[in-house]
Amino acid sequence: GEFTEQADLLVIGGGPGGYSAAIRASQLGRNVTLVERGDIGGVCLNVGCIPSKALIELSSRFHELDGLAKRGVVTEDAHIDPVALVQTVTASVERLTSGVRQLLKAADVQIVQGEASFVGPNEVRVRASHETSRIKFKDCILATGSSPRELEGFVVDHQHILDSTDLLFAPVVRRDLIVIGGGYIGIELGSAHARLGTKVTILEMAPEILMGVEPEIQRTLRSVLKQMGVEVHTGIKVKGVKTTGDAVVVEIQAGSTVEQIRAGAVAVMVGRVPNLGDDLALGTAGVGIGPEGRLVVDEQMRTANPHVFAIGDIVAGPMLAHKAYYEAKVAAEAATGRPTGNDATVIPAVIFSEPEVASAGLGEQEARDRFGDDVVVARFPYRANGRAIVLGAAVGELKVVAAKATGRLLGVHIVGIDASNLISEAALAIELGATIDDLALTIHPHPTLSEMYPEAAEVAQGMPTHIA
Ligand code: FAD
Repeated sequence: GEFTEQADLLVIGGGPGGYSAAIRASQLGRNVTLVERGDIGGVCLNVGCIPSKALIELSSRFHELDGLAKRGVVTEDAHIDPVALVQTVTASVERLTSGVRQLLKAADVQIVQGEASFVGPNEVRVRASHETSRIKFKDCILATGSSPRELEGFVVDHQHILDSTDLLFAPVVRRDLIVIGGGYIGIELGSAHARLGTKVTILEMAPEILMGVEPEIQRTLRSVLKQMGVEVHTGIKVKGVKTTGDAVVVEIQAGSTVEQIRAGAVAVMVGRVPNLGDDLALGTAGVGIGPEGRLVVDEQMRTANPHVFAIGDIVAGPMLAHKAYYEAKVAAEAATGRPTGNDATVIPAVIFSEPEVASAGLGEQEARDRFGDDVVVARFPYRANGRAIVLGAAVGELKVVAAKATGRLLGVHIVGIDASNLISEAALAIELGATIDDLALTIHPHPTLSEMYPEAAEVAQGMPTHIA
């Protein structure tokens, strides 16, 4: 028979959710075993956040060289070395994943390589390449993450029909590329390849790219993409694909017209689905799948099985690493019997486009739907910020949404350089219940981009200093 082990706390999945839950549970005194079928670090560290941001950074620096030459810094003969570029991306992954492996080791987390599936409410079977074993657990934290959504008729062959991972690690300079999906992953990776010299066409089924983003930010980004030579087509239904020699022909439908477009390759990035398939045998654990194919949990991340918790991409909410990190800590505490709960007000979201887009809290329309006339909106442009001008990046704006009567900050939306870092101040302010007056009265260092916060607050007060 199979060898059966005992685990005090079992974590399934070693991505941002799983590995941080394992570390926190260990810090809280639990004996932790972590099962991972692939690579420690999950999607985020191996094929998601980290390699994509490494590639985006390099492509942005390369693209910036034109602008730099105009501003007095001339570098001759700039070009891409594709091999070194891919090595740099890979090195960033290796550095972070080995760091996480060390942290798990230091926390005495036992790592088991293999694929887990439930055989009972407190037991899993783990299949590795050569053997299977069983693990009985007291408590379990499920963090199995997500996989790319498949598009009917498009079988990823990694040659002509690509997925996001191919765009991260394949030789990067292509003649032309069709990207299916105008969500954040399609926009981030499509525009990164465009900056490296590929002719990119983005096809989106919805009427706009980046659904859920403030409409004026969608428009800003679309015009920036156009300036870069990226073609964006919305309201497009993709019907099918044929590969012919070294090219692909994609059949698309816009309204009632059917057309064919050709390129060297097509990349499919049409969203992600939670990894909760039959192979996990969740029914055996007494854990049922709820709306949108996600697991239902209470505010302590507990499923219908009181000893099984679930976090990250497999539960409701945006599929983002920092949401997984947060939920991991709640689950680790709950499993350890601590008083805890998921009471986050905002989950900030960033799109690492050029320029960056970031938001926290309610959108303008969302706020108006909820609070009617009791909403004030104020914007401050990057072109009126000294730091943005010396950075040569005076494009974009910071927009605040607040309650009119109390001044309470409800949301912040930014498009422009370094939006990814700026948004954290908004997240903190909203979590602390800050008001427009708080923003205006907090002294921000000069000259920095963060000064746009008090400046936007002054706009809301009707007394701005640096714009008329
Ligand atoms: P995952 O990271 O998916 O990890 C789950 C792990 O569980 C995997 O390693 C898998 O092998 C393992 N597993 C699954 N089933 C089993 C099983 N039965 N037995 C054993 N192991 C199993 N998010 C951001 O916040 N910022 C970004 O900039 C960002 N960029 C992204 C770019 C790309 C191209 C992609 C694809 C994603 C990006 N994301 C980003 C999303 C982010 O990667 C995910 O939200 C995050 O990885 C979710 O963490 P997780 O722990 O829930 O799951």
